[in-house]
Amino acid sequence: MNKNILVTRSSMPDFDEYIDEIRELWDTHWLTNMGVKHQELERELKAYLGVPGLQLFTNGHMALEMLLQVMKLEGEAITTPFTFASTTHAIVRNGLTPVFCDIREDDYTIDADKIESLITDKTSAIVPVHVYGNVCEVEKLKGIADRHGLKLIYDAAHCFGVKYKDTGVANFGDASMLSFHATKVFNTIEGGAVCFNDEALRDELYFVKNFGIVDELHVKTVGGNAKMNEFAAAMGICNLRHVDAEIAKRKIVYERYMERLDGVPGLKLPVTQPFVKKNYAYFPVVFDPEVFGESRDRVYDRLLAEGIHARKYFYPLTSAFECYEGHFDPKDTPVALKISESVLTLPLYSDLALEDVDGICDVILHRA
Ligand SMILES: *Cc1c(COP(=O)(O)O)cnc(C)c1O
Repeated sequence: MNKNILVTRSSMPDFDEYIDEIRELWDTHWLTNMGVKHQELERELKAYLGVPGLQLFTNGHMALEMLLQVMKLEGEAITTPFTFASTTHAIVRNGLTPVFCDIREDDYTIDADKIESLITDKTSAIVPVHVYGNVCEVEKLKGIADRHGLKLIYDAAHCFGVKYKDTGVANFGDASMLSFHATKVFNTIEGGAVCFNDEALRDELYFVKNFGIVDELHVKTVGGNAKMNEFAAAMGICNLRHVDAEIAKRKIVYERYMERLDGVPGLKLPVTQPFVKKNYAYFPVVFDPEVFGESRDRVYDRLLAEGIHARKYFYPLTSAFECYEGHFDPKDTPVALKISESVLTLPLYSDLALEDVDGICDVILHRA
């Protein structure tokens, strides 16, 4: 193949649709600070996601960081190293110590059966990730959190629109973070949100993202600045109109990969979880070099030579980052370590042509 295929491509509305959406900002000159677009997107997302409470943020990372702050956590948080840098950094930047739990072999989410042995008298929270849009063992995790009096905070950055037993995934736990980054299933260019059940969190999250300011005379918390601006919110309003169609198109791409790669010895394809409505966010493939005959790295290089940019997502484990050198041992989570060394996420976006999917599969299977 001689064209450049990136791992993802941002969904965008028609240019004119976006222009129509932002036109009134030239009348009001209200560009940020929870203006009309912000309010409208918040309302629409609450309805779409079926969540009782939602606060918008400038990005998913700040949403998670500020959520952990308002939860007033101390000590240790049990989490997964098989995630994007953001999850671990948000924990550490809140002065908490991450305690890494291993992941499940089939869907790569945190292994709930291994959590209780990691709980100490310093543990204050569990921070799991619905990785690749796979839903964590939410019932088991709630049981553990309740039994031990721990907060349960999900990184649901991959999970926009995913449902479990007909319930929007952002409903589980005390709160969930969503990311609306350009590379995600739904984007506001950059953006994110916290979804929550406890109404008390609403004001705290609202204040903390705007310097802790309550009113002109009262500053209640040591907040920061993580407000979503009106242009980002307008992009979200437009993209939300099309997100179901985008997910339906992703499904077609995903199914083509399944069709082409299913049954190939040495390849482990994404699982279908019971009771889960997927969003087709990613297509992770785990390579068993003994059986497939080639390592993940070799396949990655061969794809790249053809202009196809797959990603070693997630590699390295966050516990192996150089900024954490000497603090953690990636060998403590052997399943996560093994998966991170053998996984490749293939290009997947709504308008990836099926011929390109075939071309990618041909390269992987040496048929090109
Ligand atoms: C994208 C992502 C984030 C961070 O979201 P941003 O909106 O990019 O700040 C956090 N966790 C995971 C698992 C992600 O994929």
